[in-house]
Amino acid sequence: MKALICGAGIAGLTLAWHLERAGWEVEVVERSAVFRDGGYMIDFYGAGLEVADRMGLADRLREVRHPVSEIGYVDRNGRQTSRLAMGSGFDGVISLLRGDLARIIRDDTRAEIRYATSVAEIRPGGEAVTVGLTDGTTRTVDLLVGADGVHSTVRGQAFGPGDQIRYLGHHVAAYTLTDARLSRLIGPRYRMLTVPGRMAGGYALGGDRLAVLFLRAEPDPEPPRDPVAALREHFGDLGWILPGVLRAEPADIYYDQVSQVEASKWSHGRVALLGDACQAVSLFAGHGASMAMAAAWVMADELAATPGDVPGSLGRYERRMRPVIAEVQAFGRRFIRWMAPPSRFRIAARDGLLRLAGLPGMDRLFLSSLTPGGHGLITGRSATDVTNR
Ligand SMILES: Cc1cc2nc3c(=O)[nH]c(=O)nc-3n(C[C@H](O)[C@H](O)[C@H](O)COP(=O)(O)OP(=O)(O)OC[C@H]3O[C@@H](n4cnc5c(N)ncnc54)[C@H](O)[C@@H]3O)c2cc1C
Repeated sequence: MKALICGAGIAGLTLAWHLERAGWEVEVVERSAVFRDGGYMIDFYGAGLEVADRMGLADRLREVRHPVSEIGYVDRNGRQTSRLAMGSGFDGVISLLRGDLARIIRDDTRAEIRYATSVAEIRPGGEAVTVGLTDGTTRTVDLLVGADGVHSTVRGQAFGPGDQIRYLGHHVAAYTLTDARLSRLIGPRYRMLTVPGRMAGGYALGGDRLAVLFLRAEPDPEPPRDPVAALREHFGDLGWILPGVLRAEPADIYYDQVSQVEASKWSHGRVALLGDACQAVSLFAGHGASMAMAAAWVMADELAATPGDVPGSLGRYERRMRPVIAEVQAFGRRFIRWMAPPSRFRIAARDGLLRLAGLPGMDRLFLSSLTPGGHGLITGRSATDVTNR
C-alpha cells in the first residue's frame, strides 16, 4: 500500500512514522525548502504525549524540554502582578519548541521528505488516487493525506472552497531571538504583559535565546504586509522589555490569524485531512500539536484494522476524532477571554484566578481544567506501538 502525505509537520510526520511501521510505502511532500525548525513554544501533554510515549519518543522530548518554573504577569514597568509556580502538578507537561517536537519525530521516520514540493492536482479514483506534484511528477497512491496546516491546499483542492475557517478575532506572532541581557532578565519563567486586546510574552530558552509571543485583537483576519513593522506599531508603546525585543530583526517570524478549522468533511474516498488541516483548535486551546498526534495515531489505527478498506477506515477515524475536537475547540473559544482579556476587569479577574491556582493543592485542579478533551482516546493496542512490544 502506498501513501502520499502533504505536509511534514507534527501530524504528517506522526502518520508517516506509523504507516511505514505498518508496512506502507510512504512519501512526504513539504512546501518549505528546508525543514521547519524552531518556531514557538508549545505545552505538550495529554493524548499527544501518550502517543509519543507509545512511539518510544517521550524521553527524547524530555531531553529537549525547556522547564518553566513559573508563569506570571507583569505591568508596563516589569513589576509582577500575579504568578503561578509550576509545581509537581505540572510534571506531565513538556514545554518545548514546536520545531524540536517535529524534528524528533522526523529523525525517527524513514519516509522520504521532498522539500519545496506540494500537491498541484488531485484525480480521485475508486481503487487509487492520482496526484500531480508541483515539481511536474505524478504519483498514484492508495491514500493521499493533507496534513498541510490551517491553510491546507489539499482541503481546498479536494473538498472545494467553502467557509471552513473560523476566525477568532486575533493575530498571533512568535519568534526566537538571541539577547543575553533580556534572557537573563526573564529567566526560565514565562512572563507576560497584557493590556486590553494585547498580550506579549517572553521565555528564556538558555544559551542567551528568548522565545517571544505576541497576541492582538484585530477585526481583519488578513495578516499585514510587514509583520515586524506591525508588531512595532502595536506593541512598541507597552514598555517592559518590549522596546529591546522589538529592536531586533527576527530571522524567522511566525505570523498568522488565530483560527479554528471546522472542515465539513475529513475524507472523501482515498483523500483525507489530518491535523490542523481539518481540526485546528487554535493556540487558545493549547492542544493542537497534541491533537494532531492523537489524530495521526487514530487514523493509522483504523487503517490497520481494515487494511483493504481505506475509505471505511477514514470514515471511522473521523467518527472517533470529531467529538473530541469539537470539545477542545469549544474550550479554546471559552479560553480567549482568559488568555487575551478584552478589558481591565477581565485582566483583574484573570490575575485573581491565577493567585487562587497557586494555593496548595490547586495546581492539579487548575491543570485538569486546562485539559478539555482526548481522555481515553488513545486506548487499546496498535500494531505500531513500541511500548506494547
Ligand atoms: C503560537 C502558537 C502556540 C501554540 N501552542 C500550542 C501548545 O501549547 N500546545 C499544543 O499542543 N499546540 C499548540 N499550538 C498548535 C500546534 O502548533 C498546531 O496545532 C500543530 O502544529 C498542528 O500540526 P499540523 O502538523 O497539523 O500542522 P503544522 O504544524 O502547521 O504543519 C503543517 C506542515 O505543512 C506544510 N505545508 C503547508 N502548506 C503546504 C502545502 N501546500 N504543501 C506542502 N506542505 C505544506 C507546512 O510548511 C508545515 O510543515 C500552538 C500554535 C501556535 C501558532
